[in-house]
Amino acid sequence: MVRVHETAIIEDNVKIGEGTSVWDNVHIRHGASIGDECIVGEKSYIAYDVKIGNRVKINAMVYICAEVTIEDGVMISASTTFTNDRFPRATFPDLTTLRPSEPDEHTLKTLVREGATIGAGCTIGNDLEIGRWAMVGMGSLVTRSVPDFHLVIGSPARSIGAVCKCGQLFHRFEEGENNLEKSCGCGLEYVIEDRSVREK
Ligand SMILES: [Zn+2]
Repeated sequence: MVRVHETAIIEDNVKIGEGTSVWDNVHIRHGASIGDECIVGEKSYIAYDVKIGNRVKINAMVYICAEVTIEDGVMISASTTFTNDRFPRATFPDLTTLRPSEPDEHTLKTLVREGATIGAGCTIGNDLEIGRWAMVGMGSLVTRSVPDFHLVIGSPARSIGAVCKCGQLFHRFEEGENNLEKSCGCGLEYVIEDRSVREK
């Protein structure tokens, strides 16, 4: 079953997977696709042709622009904003013609890999990737790609450590460290080589 609140606006050619709920005043633009068992929180906006995987949790008032792709199991917390334009201008230089808002060759992509979490109130830049199971701390400004399993926070966001699939910070990065083996309190084990984190 797909649950769509009566106040949601769903345009043509939108795919919504089995078990997904779309809450009040959501707007999903044409061509977007959302996988199975997702939640799209109230007053969120999903632009043209955006692809969203399965079991993705989108909180209230999230803005997802064109050319964003979100893989399975991602969480996007309230009031997070994506961007796709490095040179935004309302008009052409003569000020008499509005620039079109449809995606064009200057529209830049953002990919959020599986399992990643984006905290509340973040702004996500474009032409970048947020890695698998990475975590972006609340209120961050992401200006470059985030490696798998990294916790980043701040403005601009910087890596401060490694997070487990369970969500806990299990290692804080320090200068000069090289190859480490670490385990999280939940039992999962990881290898860290030059700040590149992978499961053992
Ligand atoms: Zn863990």
